[in-house]
Amino acid sequence: MKLAVCPGSFDPVTIGHLDIISRAATMFDKVVVVVMTNYRKPNYSFTPEERVMMLRRCTQDIPNVEIDHYEGLLAEYARKRGAVAIVKGLRAVSDFENEFQQALTNKKLNPDVETIFVTADAENMFLSSSVVKQVCEFGGDIRAFVPPAVHDDIVKRLISRRKEKPV
Ligand code: ADP
Repeated sequence: MKLAVCPGSFDPVTIGHLDIISRAATMFDKVVVVVMTNYRKPNYSFTPEERVMMLRRCTQDIPNVEIDHYEGLLAEYARKRGAVAIVKGLRAVSDFENEFQQALTNKKLNPDVETIFVTADAENMFLSSSVVKQVCEFGGDIRAFVPPAVHDDIVKRLISRRKEKPV
């Protein structure tokens, strides 16, 4: 069985993420989407549990996708799960340098796993979790950016967060 891991912060999940996950699910027997902490992004809006719940809700129709949470090294997680691949989405040249560095690091730490880059859909090139948060916190419509199953939860959470923020 060929298993791939699809790592990320997913703070929150967007239709860009879901596109990469769905396409990975057609290429591998099983895809484990793993919610991780990126230490370059210390201020998350959603807890890991919330991010896991939202990912579960919007992937429930894809039978070979599992959602997990891990705090630690991705290369170790991939080894533990017996993964043959790490699947990442690439939006633009700006994603490349950091992703390439991570891929080479992971290959050193776990030579059994290959990083595979899936090109973002042209429609989603601009889309990131940060874009969703910015638009929503200023009262914009994010329906075109996030899966319908999690739209209301995201709005509720981000609007209440905006109210909590000091002016
Ligand atoms: P990280 O916090 O590690 O950058 P993200 O949650 O932002 O992780 O993204 C997880 C993965 O999804 C990354 O490989 C990222 O490049 C990819 N990704 C994010 N947004 C999109 C998008 N709009 N289209 C395709 N891939 C995307």
